[in-house]
Amino acid sequence: CQATTVGETVSDCCCDYQTVNSLNGGVLHPLLHVLVKKPSFSYFKVKLWCDCPFWPDDGMCHLRDCSVCECTEDEVPLTFKKGGDSSLGDEGGQCTEDPKGVVDRTLETKGFQGWTENDNPWTADDESSDEDMVYVDLRINPEKYTGYKGVSASRIWEAIYSENCFQEGLSDTCTERRVFYRLISGVHTSIAVHIAKHYLIDEEAETWGTNLDIYRERIHAYPERLQNLYFTFLFVLRAATKAADFLASAEYSTGFPVEDAETAALVQQLVYNERLMQACPVPFDEAQLWKGDEGPALRAQLTSHFRNISAIMDCVGCEKCRLWGKLQILGLATSMKILFSEGTGKQPALQRNEVIALINLLARLSESLDSAVVMGAEVHRAGSQN
Ligand code: FAD
Repeated sequence: CQATTVGETVSDCCCDYQTVNSLNGGVLHPLLHVLVKKPSFSYFKVKLWCDCPFWPDDGMCHLRDCSVCECTEDEVPLTFKKGGDSSLGDEGGQCTEDPKGVVDRTLETKGFQGWTENDNPWTADDESSDEDMVYVDLRINPEKYTGYKGVSASRIWEAIYSENCFQEGLSDTCTERRVFYRLISGVHTSIAVHIAKHYLIDEEAETWGTNLDIYRERIHAYPERLQNLYFTFLFVLRAATKAADFLASAEYSTGFPVEDAETAALVQQLVYNERLMQACPVPFDEAQLWKGDEGPALRAQLTSHFRNISAIMDCVGCEKCRLWGKLQILGLATSMKILFSEGTGKQPALQRNEVIALINLLARLSESLDSAVVMGAEVHRAGSQN
């Protein structure tokens, strides 16, 4: 661990909280915020049709056409698409999903160049077949509160935590299993932060804003969830900087020359960031994993568990949550591909969709950290006034 720590260190990492906050707030968050708005990072290829292998009885996935945006334009009532009168849901025939959770697939076509096949052992998503794949503009589908909750949502999280042997959480003495648990928990925290930050405060007036109670109840009350968010951020940041040479020389052409040149420059600023290299040169040390005789078997087991998690994403019963769930799990899978590829001494080549998932995941985590600092301070302030 080469970092100069100035405060409490994020456990399993080489950086302290204060340094992460200062780096993120001062450099990384503003940079990532602009980068993910660029065309190169906006068009994500994804299979949204929920071919759930685990709970075929899930009502949300019963009818193929129930996924609202697969209906043709004129089939879907305008008010339904805008999230207006939800009573129109039943009259809209097969389209019964909550409009807040529906993915908008309107996009420009210029971004579709150079998509290639996928070869990532950590994901079950097969992008080599274009069947059922669609392209989604992430800019018009932001991650926010969708109203997805209850049995469907909780059984997904339960399946991820319990059926994949990560249930011991932070107390797990096996570093690898603890790391995997923390990554899932960190993404879970990040999703909750986005829900709290972009909440539908008044359904009738369609007013969106911060819901501090959600932040207080789901995150502030559980410090380890916040710690896992910091951990996950540092893990993904390490992957992005380890793949620096690949990312810096990758092709970012989308047919918008000015934007594309800015994109390439921003990627360079991110992956060769001097402040980052000075303050936190190795945010996570992957060399500590897979050691000893049991390393290879454990690695095979966790690879298979993580592939399972990516398959579980097909069971997420809200389209927009499925989109961001799949993107973020692919982002983690890509980080693992970068950090855990062994033997060749060369960094693995990344597919374009993997790069998009990696950088968008990093941007989501970065934004969550930024929002958590603000909301955490507000909760403290509100607490000290009572
Ligand atoms: P949940 O968040 O459902 O959590 C279930 C249980 O997991 C909790 O009771 C607790 O025991 C445990 N838990 C909670 N947080 C953590 C953590 N950080 N680490 C470890 N354990 C934890 N909803 C939206 O509104 N917008 C979205 O974009 C969205 N995306 C989603 C993506 C996926 C992949 C999934 C599975 C769900 C998504 N949801 C989304 C739903 C959302 O995550 C919650 O399930 C929902 O808001 C209900 O929250 P809850 O408080 O009941 O607990």
